Amino acid sequence: MSRNMKLVKDTDKTQQKKTEITDKQAEEAFRTILSWIGEDPNREGLLETPRRVVKAFKEYFKGYHQDAKTDLSKTFGDVEGYDDMVVEKNITLESHCEHHMAPIIGVAHVAYIPNKKVVGLSKLARTVDIFSKRLQTQERLTMQIAKTLMSSLEAKGVAVTIDAAHQCMTMRGIKKEKATTVTNYFLGSFREDLSFQNRYLRYIAK
Ligand SMILES: [Zn+2]
Repeated sequence: MSRNMKLVKDTDKTQQKKTEITDKQAEEAFRTILSWIGEDPNREGLLETPRRVVKAFKEYFKGYHQDAKTDLSKTFGDVEGYDDMVVEKNITLESHCEHHMAPIIGVAHVAYIPNKKVVGLSKLARTVDIFSKRLQTQERLTMQIAKTLMSSLEAKGVAVTIDAAHQCMTMRGIKKEKATTVTNYFLGSFREDLSFQNRYLRYIAK
């Protein structure tokens, strides 16, 4: 019986290993792509390229290993009664679209209305970063940032706007190089009270 249990355990381990792709395997995949586009992955200029691309991809997609809720858990209780909106605008945003893995480059504007707790300003930008460093659609990215801020800060309201250019639209396909996409997501007071929403929109328009 104990032998059986061990067998089962060992099988589990092998299955786990199979899903874990090593850096070497990822580099090999990029070598394949280099050949496929018509290059020689063995020429001098390209020898180190797969390794560099893997390193870059780790940066582009590091958000899969980060949890915004952990960062947002460090809040300050003493805000001396500040209860109006906090707006952080023009946060640089770099993400990748999940349909073409092409860059999405733009800015995010984030606002929240504190409810007893405030958070360090850098944490708002960090939340944008963590969700950006994944394969995304702009719509989902906007909502993920808003919902995470709302629940982690137990805020009275949250507003998130993203204005970004999608290189899958500007560099290829329909090739509209000046097109940018704007998405908004409002929660709490920003959704229910248009005076809050309008003030927010005026601040970010400046
Ligand atoms: Zn795309």
